[in-house]
Amino acid sequence: MVGTVPVGGGAPVAVQTMTKTETANIEATMAQILTVADAGADIVRVAVPREQDAEALRTIVAASPIPIIADIHFNHTLALKAIAAGAHCVRLNPGNIGGPEKVAEVTALAEQTGTPLRVGVNSGSLPRHLRQLEYDNPVEALVTAAIETVELMESLNFTNFKVSMKSTSVPNTIASNRLLAERIPYPLHLGVTEAGTKWSGSLKSAVGLGTLLADGIGDTIRISLSTFHAEEEVKVAWEILKALKLRERGPVLIACPTCGRLQFDMDTVVAEVEQRLEAYEDPVEVSVLGCAVNGIGEARHADFGITGAKDMGMIYSKGEPLKKVPTERLVDELFKEIDRYYAAGRKVERDEQAAAEARAWLAENEDDTQMTPERIAALEAAAAENDEAAAEVLEEMLAVSPQGEQVGSVTLDEAVSPVAGRRFSRS
Ligand code: SF4
Repeated sequence: MVGTVPVGGGAPVAVQTMTKTETANIEATMAQILTVADAGADIVRVAVPREQDAEALRTIVAASPIPIIADIHFNHTLALKAIAAGAHCVRLNPGNIGGPEKVAEVTALAEQTGTPLRVGVNSGSLPRHLRQLEYDNPVEALVTAAIETVELMESLNFTNFKVSMKSTSVPNTIASNRLLAERIPYPLHLGVTEAGTKWSGSLKSAVGLGTLLADGIGDTIRISLSTFHAEEEVKVAWEILKALKLRERGPVLIACPTCGRLQFDMDTVVAEVEQRLEAYEDPVEVSVLGCAVNGIGEARHADFGITGAKDMGMIYSKGEPLKKVPTERLVDELFKEIDRYYAAGRKVERDEQAAAEARAWLAENEDDTQMTPERIAALEAAAAENDEAAAEVLEEMLAVSPQGEQVGSVTLDEAVSPVAGRRFSRS
């Protein structure tokens, strides 16, 4: 447990971040802690490089709505002070704290107070005796260093800890954590250190942490981004967990990638929908489609969705049209429907007259004959299952055109597709 948050043992993967303020500046640090807690951080770490930071901890721990981890390097006295101040966890790298005796002093006090530790190693500061191994096999060097740390903890009869191995390299982060997870029974904290800017850092973290989390490895995660806004790290962590369906938090937005069939200003609409959805806590699923050519298609499971054309668009729910509205009012009307749904106790309220008009509009604008990105994806997915499933999808797509005409033929190209085993082409 880190405070009230369970870590490891099948508990949900916890989202962690770190404040970017001087910890001794209690007002600024608390403001950031409240912001990250609001964004969904389960745990927050604060840097404790000086005496005054350790002194500020007592106030911060008492005021924070989420557990506090004190981040200590080089100075074991600060670790002792952080524990005494009530920090819910202390992070230290035994390799840089001044020898096993000093580590022993910290574990003795942590044992007494029931304070867990996060121990670990960084690729940039491995012990001297592993330098050659680091040169020959950096992954093995990182794992060896982590295991030596674990053995030191166990030799001190202290087992209330999680372990982290930090590397700036995504492949090494993945390979080393996979190895370590096989070799030790303790919870793992994951992160790609110094990942980069919001854009590149998010991607690196999504690839590195996402791969491990998909393997079932990792108990707490921190996304390191070069931004003062720690809440951005939290948002990225949540998107990774939501994408892997490991945890749910807030709405899920689905948007088509757009293509040449796009008929309205999708960029602006998606950005507005995303921003307005931030006000909702429920995991409502909202879809935005750039044209009506597909019908509701892939978005039929969405709780709510919009699809647009030049001057008119349609709002739908769970695959059923609700109403058509002028394009410029699409977003406002979408949110009116969402609010109505919550006001009615999560019940979709349908006006049959408006729904019939929307259905007619959809029938006019849908075009069963077009090979859209969504339909090609559906075919390839079905083909990956088997030819029979693909044939069914084809039949569904092409058997009936809105005009009831013969709509040309679709042939299966038997060439192997790297994606799905087969490719389809129209002839
Ligand atoms: S065909 Fe698909 S990707 Fe293209 S605009 Fe329509 S919904 Fe979006």
